[in-house]
Amino acid sequence: MDRDPLTLSVVVPMFNEEAMVHLFAARVRPLLDVSGEAYELLVVDDGSTDNTAALLLGMRRLWPQLRVVRLRRNSGHQTALTAGLHLAYGDYVVSIDADLQDPPEKILDMLALARAQNLDIVYGVRDNRSVDTIFKRRTAEIYYGLMRRVVARGLPHNAGDFRLLSRAAVDVLKQLPEQQPVYRLLVPWIGFPSGEVTYTRAERAAGRTKYPLSAMIRLAVQSLVSFSAAPLRVATWIGLGGFLLCLLLLGYSLFGFFMGNTVVGWTSLFAGVMFIGSIQLVCLGLLGEYVARIYSSLQGRPAYLISYDSAVHISSPEPVATLRS
Ligand code: UDP
Ligand code: MG
Repeated sequence: MDRDPLTLSVVVPMFNEEAMVHLFAARVRPLLDVSGEAYELLVVDDGSTDNTAALLLGMRRLWPQLRVVRLRRNSGHQTALTAGLHLAYGDYVVSIDADLQDPPEKILDMLALARAQNLDIVYGVRDNRSVDTIFKRRTAEIYYGLMRRVVARGLPHNAGDFRLLSRAAVDVLKQLPEQQPVYRLLVPWIGFPSGEVTYTRAERAAGRTKYPLSAMIRLAVQSLVSFSAAPLRVATWIGLGGFLLCLLLLGYSLFGFFMGNTVVGWTSLFAGVMFIGSIQLVCLGLLGEYVARIYSSLQGRPAYLISYDSAVHISSPEPVATLRS
């Protein structure tokens, strides 16, 4: 199908964001409409179970640049982003969250910077995290500290998933066979010329966070094991250390035995068994993490399934377009 070339795609993953749909559109549309860009606003509805999709499809009637893609089931933020990057048509693709924590006004700044300096990547970098909870700040510090060690090269400070990518960068990312891409690490890794736009992160405008602690832990584990085999080696070192400690404990128990003090021996034996058992479990868990990744990449299942794309299904009606009460 022939279509007019688009200069800008704005990719927005949404999961149960019915409270945000209109707020987001009201802030973004005026900006993009007057920007003079041939744009699409590509919303990836990540299997929402609320009215998000119905609201979007309703809005589309009066906003032809709004493109709605629906995934069959909830596949997670990063996967929704993957779908968006794969489907976007624009020369530049900006990804932004739906909750207005990242200011949409900066999209045009990013675009201007990329064009002026011929950059392929422009990161949105938070100048501070004062609106985040102490817990979120601390965990983010640990996460970025760890990632800078593992991925090392040029990982920008405090850059999340608000960023601009050129068509060339998007095409490279699309070719990577990663099953569970973590873009905030992959994007610096591909090594294209990059710049930064700083901004102050606002509070979520409405609705609740879709990133519970479990999702944060999952992201951290994915980030680590997709970039490094170091944890496997850590397992070996912990195992060796544990073995040495055990030898010491054995010496101690033998000493106790010869001194006729068997009760003390029982305690140390018990501690030793517990210790070795837990180390083995940790090591097994680490191995399992990598084996699981080999397994899922062998299965080769698609990370997401598209149930509807308004740019393709122009004439066929979307089946779940009714508003739920
Ligand atoms: N999101 C998604 N799928 C999910 C979880 C989140 O598409 O399974 C979207 C969500 O709608 C939002 C973005 O990802 O646009 C970031 O989520 P959120 O703002 O809840 O995360 P936080 O800012 O609290 O880390
Ligand atoms: Mg948010």
